Amino acid sequence: MENEQHYMGRSGWLRASVLGANDGILSTASLAIGIAAANPGREAIVLATVAGVVAGALSMAAGEYVSVSSQSDVENADLSREKAELEQMPEEELKELASIYQARGLTPALAMEVAKQLTQHNALEAHARDELGINEITKAKPLQAAFASAASFVVGGLLPLLVSFTAPLHNMVVIQYISSILFLAASGIFAAKAGGSSILKSVLRICIWGTLAMIASALVGYTFSQLGAPV
Ligand SMILES: [Zn+2]
Repeated sequence: MENEQHYMGRSGWLRASVLGANDGILSTASLAIGIAAANPGREAIVLATVAGVVAGALSMAAGEYVSVSSQSDVENADLSREKAELEQMPEEELKELASIYQARGLTPALAMEVAKQLTQHNALEAHARDELGINEITKAKPLQAAFASAASFVVGGLLPLLVSFTAPLHNMVVIQYISSILFLAASGIFAAKAGGSSILKSVLRICIWGTLAMIASALVGYTFSQLGAPV
């Protein structure tokens, strides 16, 4: 039993961190590629990359905080409604709980017995878990999620930033692309391993979407430079 592995408990922060890191790599590298494709000096590329990392991290944090908070608000509203219902109509709530266990395959008598015992143990916990699907693991944590995605965005964004500082200017677009795809593939492998899912699928998915994003950015930068726009 000790060796059996479960992944669900990790999926919340894992999802946020991997999304954040991939976003950091891809949006920062795309930005650098878009600017570099217009052939400016290194200063412009580095400046755009730094601004991209800062703006991206803050926007990830804000977005994640808002989305997880509203999920948390919904959960809390559900919980207090459930609490009130348990006080006002305990009989109906007991039958409701029993019918949930019956629907999951227990006989009516056993379902009622389970419902009674769990109600005695902790009625709100039983209704939260079995009726609303809220438990400790999945309970929304806005600050934790915001911090995880901002920090992982910065980690992802540092890689293209390093390339902006060091790569030769005439090969900037190609080096940004290749290094980002390698980083994305590595992150896909990490995510698949940590989440126990298919590595090939995970890597292919991220590389295809990453390539499309970077091609689109390069086209925008290139088009600007061809139109003679001031960069
Ligand atoms: Zn209920």
